[in-house]
Amino acid sequence: MSTSVRVRFAPSPTGPLHIGGVRTALFNYLFAKKHNGTFVLRIEDTDQNRYVEGAEDYIISALNWCHIPYDEGPGKEGDCGPYRQSERKSMYKQYALDLIEKGAAYYAFDTAQELQTARENAEAKKETFIYNHNNRNDFTNSLTLSSYEVKERINRGDDYVIRFKPELKTLHMFDEIRKGIEIDTSLIDDKVLFKSDGMPTYHLANVVDDHDMKISHVIRGEEWLPSMALHVLLYESFGWERPKFAHLPLILKPTGKGKLSKRDGDKMGFSVFPLEWKDPKSGEISTGFKQDGFLPETMINILAFLGWNPGTEQEIFSLDELVQAFSLDKVNSSGAK
Ligand code: GLU
Repeated sequence: MSTSVRVRFAPSPTGPLHIGGVRTALFNYLFAKKHNGTFVLRIEDTDQNRYVEGAEDYIISALNWCHIPYDEGPGKEGDCGPYRQSERKSMYKQYALDLIEKGAAYYAFDTAQELQTARENAEAKKETFIYNHNNRNDFTNSLTLSSYEVKERINRGDDYVIRFKPELKTLHMFDEIRKGIEIDTSLIDDKVLFKSDGMPTYHLANVVDDHDMKISHVIRGEEWLPSMALHVLLYESFGWERPKFAHLPLILKPTGKGKLSKRDGDKMGFSVFPLEWKDPKSGEISTGFKQDGFLPETMINILAFLGWNPGTEQEIFSLDELVQAFSLDKVNSSGAK
């Protein structure tokens, strides 16, 4: 590979880091170290309503306890910082405006009430409301208003969002774990990229930052697979080279049905967090593997085998051995119990 490997773990500080998140961080770390690359920690905190006090410190403590430290991130400034999205706030709008300029995005002035009415009308017809190529011409946006009116509305301070206008085509994508994927982009809605509160949404900030931080491989949980097409279209619209993508299998409940939750752990008597966590609001305490008496080496060994296997009989690995043995080819595509 000609370009250097740069991967990132990009949690949102919305609570304690679930072991699924630690597994994502671990696989990023192993991949980076295997390829002499860089492991970046980026805190995705653009949604201030979901911000939880202490969650960022918890994430960092958990990575440190597991001995999977990041090379660049909060407190370890590199060339691509700052590494907290809230500190990068001022840069995102220009990117959204660039997309408008390119015809790949537009201003939308629809009020919450108007959208609610559209949703109810669709529900009455037993349909799901999607704002997309089928109906965007029925709404109040810069595709239906004159440019004079658009300017006037912006100048007088009307609320607006910026929505993406996906190109209609069959999109060919490749995931390192799931291999070739094709999607008809007419199924994608006109996602909001930039909100009326002046903040980017997850999708815009995530793609802009991955590009800006020179991320070569996006390795993340399968719950983000449905966003991959939108992200690839965003790269195309910006005219940027897309990184490689690898979506890791979910960590499932012991029954194999559905994602492992804190409730499953509580019911069956095991932790789903690496460290103990005290909820800052309710004061509720959740147990952690560390306090349960597990060694970090054990935790890492357990997590490595959730969704990956070395293809040999060896079951006990040190972190260094994992780095040597790890490859994305040996990550399974089905969920791990
Ligand atoms: N902030 C997202 C999360 O919390 C990151 C998803 C991604 O890695 O792109 O999972």
